[in-house]
Amino acid sequence: MALDLVIKNGTVVDGSGMPRYRADVGVKGGRIVEIGRIRAAAERTIDAEGMIVAPGFIDGHTHMDAQVAWDPIGSCSCWHGVTSVVMGNCGFALAPCKPEDREWFARCLTAVEDIPTEAMLAGIEWNWETFPEYLANVERLPKALNYGMYIGHSALRMYAMGKRALDQTATEDDLRLMADAVTEAIKCGALGFSTSRASTHITPDGSPVASRIAEWEEIDRLVGAMAALNAGIFQIGPDISGGEAQRVFLDRLRKVALDSGRPIMFGTLATRQGVAPNPWDYQMRWMDETVAAGGRVYGQATTRSINAIFSLRSYLPFDTLPAWKAVRALPLAEQKHRLADPEVRRQLVAEEALMKPKGAELQGGGAATTDPRKPDYENLFPMFDVDWDDPSVAELSRRHNKHPVEVIIDLALENDNRVFVQPLVNESPADVLGLLKHPRSLATFSDSGAHVCQEMGSSLQTHLLSYWVRKREEFTLEEAVRMLTFDNASAWELEGRGLVRTGYAADLVVFDERRIKPRLPTVEEDLPGGARRLVQKADGIAATIVNGAVAFENGETTGDYAGQVLKGPVAARR
Ligand SMILES: [Zn+2]
Repeated sequence: MALDLVIKNGTVVDGSGMPRYRADVGVKGGRIVEIGRIRAAAERTIDAEGMIVAPGFIDGHTHMDAQVAWDPIGSCSCWHGVTSVVMGNCGFALAPCKPEDREWFARCLTAVEDIPTEAMLAGIEWNWETFPEYLANVERLPKALNYGMYIGHSALRMYAMGKRALDQTATEDDLRLMADAVTEAIKCGALGFSTSRASTHITPDGSPVASRIAEWEEIDRLVGAMAALNAGIFQIGPDISGGEAQRVFLDRLRKVALDSGRPIMFGTLATRQGVAPNPWDYQMRWMDETVAAGGRVYGQATTRSINAIFSLRSYLPFDTLPAWKAVRALPLAEQKHRLADPEVRRQLVAEEALMKPKGAELQGGGAATTDPRKPDYENLFPMFDVDWDDPSVAELSRRHNKHPVEVIIDLALENDNRVFVQPLVNESPADVLGLLKHPRSLATFSDSGAHVCQEMGSSLQTHLLSYWVRKREEFTLEEAVRMLTFDNASAWELEGRGLVRTGYAADLVVFDERRIKPRLPTVEEDLPGGARRLVQKADGIAATIVNGAVAFENGETTGDYAGQVLKGPVAARR
């Protein structure tokens, strides 16, 4: 029996956390069929001498719902060893959706997630209405990665209630319709149901998204529909307002966990923003207590700070000021010309004094870039490298005896791809480490596909391996790979993935543990319709294999798209 593919001479880090060993890995029919010294012939051989062979990484928190329609490779996650993603998070899904609501949906996704409306209208062939039709559409699309998806609450509520979803309590009829749709979605392959209570999630006119209008009883009912099938994950974008409000939120969420028995996922954050934020260890204790009481919960963590990202080619914090607006409306070359003019610079620097001071509200990547406050220059960093040790703009301003705005202008003129990051949450490495070390936290939460020009979390996997494993030595490679593979496969109930084992799907990543590292992000204009977005690639990954097909070699797509839809256990068993 000739194999389709053999990865020879590599060192297997199998995803379980067990120590590494040298072995060849043989693949046939999309599955791992042999591990050891393989003598059988193969159609294709990859020499992995000196390389690690690990299960492909799994990212459970993305917003690729729109992008999957126009981007078969699944960027930017695909450049970081990811082979499977979960989309439809935080209640934002593209299904179910009535034809007359499509444009409004697109505008909501623009408002919340910075996915350009023109890209969605140009890049998507909207040929679905129900969730099963959307899933079937994703099944047909060419895709290099595997995609799992939730049915999203904001979409579902709009579908069931029309514009009433934006300000009214659901009636019994609405609830029945929504619960039936959740049941139908789980039966046809949804991984679960997602919602949001986050204050940063707003419609284009600034009002709360539909899911935030729902009473908790509505959530009980919809999670209850999953509980009746004993299947499905409940993902919730948490109330992040802080203080008493967030504690009340968490207590009510505990009731959902205990009543339903379904796994619950929410984003755990450490932040100094907002009013009286509850520290990350409060959220961890809450998880431990909920599990002790009989619930099943996971906290989604990032591997670095979540940042608002600025650059000359995208947003700058000063863009809304009048003199800046005039300059920023010009073509890039002309902007650079003006920014170099001493008279113009004096005016631009002076205008910064007019900016709104930072308020008490928590700003996400959206508002922080589109409605920026006067920057705290101690918390704004030009990115010279992807590690966590760049000097702040304030420090550079002191060092060079220049106004912080001039520091930014000079660095931007020197390199128009230079990005500046303003950590919003998980600002401190110590807090992120605490989050990641907790056994119930998951290293996931790239937000890939969203905030396309505002944030860049797609490098979370390569950052974990380069920064926390290689530079800081806080995790062994085996532990870190387990976090990115088996842990996430287990939490999302993805059967047959997340380990290098015979019989498992051949989702594999071959990388050099001495070199793997994210590159600096850049701004590219490559969305449908030419809209801009942040792009971040990585070094040190030799090959990424999805369902047995070599999808990427040295960071380049091969055009072999073998990605599948990841279905929840009810549909997968049928
Ligand atoms: Zn999200």
